Amino acid sequence: MCLMPFIFVRNECKYIFSEVDNNHEHIHGAQQREMLMAGSVAAVILLIIGCGWWSLLPVPAFFWWYLIEYVVRLAKYRDQKEAYRNISFEQEAFINEGNFLYLVGRNGFWWAKYLFRKTYVHGSTGSKASLNSDNF
Ligand SMILES: [Zn+2]
Repeated sequence: MCLMPFIFVRNECKYIFSEVDNNHEHIHGAQQREMLMAGSVAAVILLIIGCGWWSLLPVPAFFWWYLIEYVVRLAKYRDQKEAYRNISFEQEAFINEGNFLYLVGRNGFWWAKYLFRKTYVHGSTGSKASLNSDNF
């Protein structure tokens, strides 16, 4: 799990945590950084217009977006794994986790291009994602 700037790995997984897993979490780190910036801008605007402590709510925008998108996709697919794997942040991370140069050429908010896509179907032998790495 990535909680920028840290990556947490469960003790029982530390010996199988691969470079691909590490890259996946670093992609989430990049997503969290850009969402933190966007959330902070929204917070400043809300502070300026006088919303008080409520202004701080958009700061962890990545986590709000992640949760809301998960709930929406869960309602749509009625399958927890399918909902999780098709969250746009996860689609970007799973599709590009094997591309170790991905973060070098990645533009900001590239996860947004997966908002209306579905790249994982539960029960398939893998995700189409691994066959479909983004090229840049
Ligand atoms: Zn992930």
